[in-house]
Order: sequence, then C-alpha cells, then structure tokens
Amino acid sequence: MAILSIIKGEDSAVLRRKTAPIPKVTKEIVRLIKDMQKTVKDADGAGLAAPQIGKSLRVCLCMIEGTMTPMINAEVTWKSKDTWEYEEGCLSLPKTWVNVPRPVTIRIKYLDKKGKEQERELTEMNARVVLHEIDHLDGVLIVDYAAT
Ligand SMILES: [Zn+2]
Repeated sequence: MAILSIIKGEDSAVLRRKTAPIPKVTKEIVRLIKDMQKTVKDADGAGLAAPQIGKSLRVCLCMIEGTMTPMINAEVTWKSKDTWEYEEGCLSLPKTWVNVPRPVTIRIKYLDKKGKEQERELTEMNARVVLHEIDHLDGVLIVDYAAT
C-alpha cells in the first residue's frame, strides 16, 4: 500500500473533469481503494475521491458512522427538499472553508469493493460527506458554492 499525493488547486484539470463509471470492480480498483484508504487516513480527511489522487474514476471513500466506506459508481437516487448549511473544507483546497447548503437526507446507491450493489439512506453529516465526494466525481468543488 502507498500513500498517494493529493492534487490541489481549484483549476486542476483532473479535479474539474467528470469521472468515468467503473464497468467492473477489478483487482486494480481494489488496490486503488486500499491506497486511497491509507492516503485519507494519513491526511486525516473525512473522505477522498479518485480525482484527488489524479484518477478520473468514479471511486470515492466516505466516512459514514465512523467507518471509512469505499463506494464505486456512487449516485444520489433521492434527496430531501429541506437543506442545511455547514462549513466544509477539502483536502484539495487547503485553508479554504465554504458554507455549503446540502439536503438533510439522501438516498444513494453504489457498488461496494466486492462489486455488490448497496443502497443506503443517510442524514446530516453522513449525507454531507457523501455529497461532497460525489461532487468531486462530477468535477464540482466547494468554492463553486461560495457567494459571489
Ligand atoms: Zn474535497
């Protein structure tokens, strides 16, 4: 396992590109997830998306209920109309904090690292972390929510 370097800067091309879905959970993807686990732990982050380590793939890790959960092809299938704002940071944007409105409750589906489809309903901070990481998969950064 390796600690990977984290891509920084809001204008980085890989951070702004929409990622490609993963057709099959291969050994390479499982290895990538292991490296990302080690990287996010080292950086003390709540989540990490593959573009942040330079891979334009639909893979992310999200801290849910204290467990760093790998998600492949994660997508939101439902979100609540009620939202709440909270200040978010990002490993790719050091010293940047932005108040971001997010839905209170979401439903998501994704593949786990065994390739099995999972569906979950998440609220508040758990939902927020996942939405932040899914934004990364779509090339969106917290600075995009900053008031202009
Ligand atoms: Zn981030």
